[in-house]
Amino acid sequence: MAEAHSLMLYNTLTRRKEEFVPLDAQNVRMYVCGPTVYDYAHIGNARPVVVFDVLFRLLRQMYGEKHVTYVRNITDVDDKINARAAEEGISIRELTERTAKQFHEDIKALGVLPPTIEPRATEHIEEMKALIEELIASGHAYVAEGHVLFDVPSMPDYGKLSNRSLDEMAAGARVEVAPYKKDPMDFVLWKPSKPGEPSWPSPGGIAEPGRPGWHIECSAMAGKHLGDVFDIHGGGIDLVFPHHENEIAQSRCAHGTDVMARYWLHNGFLQVEGEKMSKSLGNFITIHDLLKEWPGDVVRFNMLRTHYRQPIDWTRKGLEESKATLDRWGEISDRVGGALTKHALPDIGVIEALKDDLNTPLAITRLHELAKECRSNADGAAETWLASAAFLGFDVARWHSPVQSAELVEVTDPDLAHRVKSLVAQRGAARKSKDFKEADRIRDELAATGIVLKDTKDPATGEIVTTWELAR
Ligand code: AMP
Ligand code: ZN
Repeated sequence: MAEAHSLMLYNTLTRRKEEFVPLDAQNVRMYVCGPTVYDYAHIGNARPVVVFDVLFRLLRQMYGEKHVTYVRNITDVDDKINARAAEEGISIRELTERTAKQFHEDIKALGVLPPTIEPRATEHIEEMKALIEELIASGHAYVAEGHVLFDVPSMPDYGKLSNRSLDEMAAGARVEVAPYKKDPMDFVLWKPSKPGEPSWPSPGGIAEPGRPGWHIECSAMAGKHLGDVFDIHGGGIDLVFPHHENEIAQSRCAHGTDVMARYWLHNGFLQVEGEKMSKSLGNFITIHDLLKEWPGDVVRFNMLRTHYRQPIDWTRKGLEESKATLDRWGEISDRVGGALTKHALPDIGVIEALKDDLNTPLAITRLHELAKECRSNADGAAETWLASAAFLGFDVARWHSPVQSAELVEVTDPDLAHRVKSLVAQRGAARKSKDFKEADRIRDELAATGIVLKDTKDPATGEIVTTWELAR
């Protein structure tokens, strides 16, 4: 058996791949910034959710299910939420509840496990206020015109994560210039609310009633559920600056620690058909809409075909290729009888690929190899193959030959559908063993009952995929 390697992760903080060593192997702790719930999540938002779900699964495999705490928050207080609720004429609560529910349904269809804890910002206002009070007391924050601001120059090594100097940051960032800021880089911890906006009494009663800034939400929720210093913090690459830089500043200055999280992981960005996704370009794709056309596993597969740090170009062609692979795998799964038992273990090669900075493309290559072994009837390969796919989060219980899908919808007679499926599988097996006479006999038998088989070659692998339809 191959030697088990350690988990290597690319750490944005140090800009290299490092061996992952948890602070406490009995409780491995990870925080990932979750969605702001004001609208359907788009396919870009799905990327960190799926990527860190794979990491969560891997950590559970390595350290045990009870020894991993994964926190992914819900941001339910935000200006975009206020604006949308007003637009729709509904309460903020109604909007955030509806959107969070939709988000859960969408990502469940993508095979994403629920995190251990899913804190909501509005349920952690007291923790945010306490953190802000701590920052004021230690000279890292100040009150100005009803706001509380973080005093960026009070932190000598601010900017370590994004590796930029203050001058570079000020030049590159669209920082809000407000007259009450001591330094243009200072950012909001607390801001006053206008009538109608959500509002809480201010930290220590020293500013105006209002609401927290976005960055402090994550610092407070991560601190409460994972402690002052924890293992992994994740999110999309766009969050490195300013969001994560500011989370680090707040948490470190409030807790007096050298780091907030020890490993910072960031997924690359997702583009659509070569362009940045945006509402104005009309290429804005929600998970909800995608799922109307594609099975969740196809979407997940298409996402994991690319390494998480690379940009993804999300295309229809890519989805079609992913679907073709999963259709083919569905056929193999049917042929081997969907042989997944509860105790089947994933393949070591798949796990080792993931341990190398979540190399999902390599893990998928390994699934292809295992599928090939299944086709040549290698003993035990089917179980390992399906267990490996399930380990990657695929819903293998639903992997079936495409003959069961689209075409069958039109066939009202379930016995006929079943009979055709079984004959198609027998014909496939006959062809496999080069018994073309038998294969043709089955085809003719079906043709005699008005069922036409269609063989297409998958361009990627040269594999034959058989679908069928009723002759009209
Ligand atoms: P937001 O709701 O905008 O804060 O985003 C939630 C998560 O989705 C964050 O981790 C973002 O970095 C991530 N994200 C947003 N857009 C994309 C995109 N186009 N590609 C990859 N990740 C994205
Ligand atoms: Zn965050």
